[in-house]
Amino acid sequence: LTSLASTAARRLRGHLTPRRAEMIGDLAALVDMDSPSSDVGALNRVADWLEAWLRPIGQVESIPAPDGRRHLLVQTPGSASHSPLILCHYDTVWPLGTTEQWSFEQAGDTATGPGICDMKAGIVCARHALEGLRQLDVEHRARLLLSSDEEIGNPSSRRHIETLAADAAAALVLEPPLEGGQLKTARKGHGHATVTVRGRAAHAGLHPERGINAIEQIAELILQLRDPAGTPPGSTAVVGRVQGGGARNVVPEHAELELDLRAWSRADMAALIAKVDGLRPAHREAEIDVVAEVDRPPMERGPSTDALMEVYAAAARAIGLPVAEGASGGVSEGNLAQAVGAPVLDGLGVRGAGLHARDERVDLTHLVPQTAIIGAMIAALSRRG
Ligand SMILES: [Zn+2]
Repeated sequence: LTSLASTAARRLRGHLTPRRAEMIGDLAALVDMDSPSSDVGALNRVADWLEAWLRPIGQVESIPAPDGRRHLLVQTPGSASHSPLILCHYDTVWPLGTTEQWSFEQAGDTATGPGICDMKAGIVCARHALEGLRQLDVEHRARLLLSSDEEIGNPSSRRHIETLAADAAAALVLEPPLEGGQLKTARKGHGHATVTVRGRAAHAGLHPERGINAIEQIAELILQLRDPAGTPPGSTAVVGRVQGGGARNVVPEHAELELDLRAWSRADMAALIAKVDGLRPAHREAEIDVVAEVDRPPMERGPSTDALMEVYAAAARAIGLPVAEGASGGVSEGNLAQAVGAPVLDGLGVRGAGLHARDERVDLTHLVPQTAIIGAMIAALSRRG
C-alpha cells in the first residue's frame, strides 16, 4: 500500500499542478457563498452549487434533515461497504452577510475568507483528489460526506456519519491540521454536566438564618472543582454558566451550574465525571443533583492510527512534505467516526490559521500537495477492503 501511495501522490501532484488556478477559483467561489450552520436557506443554496460541482466525481445523493437542511453524500463508481470515507462539512461559524464585508482575497500564497480553512479548502481538496484519480485512471472507491451542521454539533448528520464510518475501511477527516501543519491523531472528548442545588428559601431580612443559600453552595462547589485532586492531567471541567436566585430579598432556594468537560482518554473522562458526581454541598441539608453526559468520546491514538500514518507518510515523503502529528483539544467528526470503530486520520485539510477568527487564512502552497496526498491515501485505502 505504501508504494501505491507514493506513486499515486507523485502522479497526482503532476496532474494537479497545472490545475492550481482552477482549484483556487473553486475555493474563491465556495468561500464567497455564506453558509452559516443555522441558516437553512443559505445552506441549501450552497448545497445546490455543491451538487452540480461534485457530479463529475460520482453519484451525489442529497440527505434531507428534519429542519430542511441537506447533507450531501457522494459515492464514486464502485464504492461499497468498506470503502474509505472522507468527512467534510460545508457549514461555517460565520453569519449570513459576512462575505459582503469580507470576501475571498488572495495575496501571494495566502488566501483569506470566512470558513476558508475550516473547511472550505478541505472540500476543494476532496473534490479535486477524486477527480484527479478518475482522470488519471487510478483505481479508487470512496464515499464523501459533506455535512451542514458540524459547527453546531452534528444534530442531524451524526447518525449518518456513524452509519457510514462503522462500515468504512477508514475515515479521513479534512479539517485543517494544527497551525504547525501537524495531523491531528488525537482529540479530546467532550461532555457536559448540569449540577443543580436545592437549598431553602427564607426572608433575607427577617430570618436569613433559616435559609440555605443555594448560590453560596454552588460557589463552594466551584472551589471544590478547582481543586486539582481527582482531575486527570489535561482534563478540564470549565464552569460555563451559572444561574440561580430570584428576588433580591430572598435567600435563594435554587441554583444551577453548567460544566463543559474535556478529557484525552475515556478513562480520564470517566474519572472527571466521577469527580463531578462526587461533589457534595457544604451544608448537609442542601440537596444536589448531577446530570453528566459524554457527547463525544475522546479520539485516542491507537494501533489503527499507525497503519494510516504509514500510508500518509509514504504519500507525503514521495512529494517531499514533512510528516508530523499532534493532538487537538477540540472535537470533530473524527471523534464520532472513531467511536464506532473506524480508523481515523484527522487534520488532512489545508494548512492555515485563524479558525473561527477574522484572520482566518490558508497557505495556498499546500493546496496541490495536500490534495495529492489525500488522493493517494484514497487510492491506497481502496485496496484494503
Ligand atoms: Zn471544521
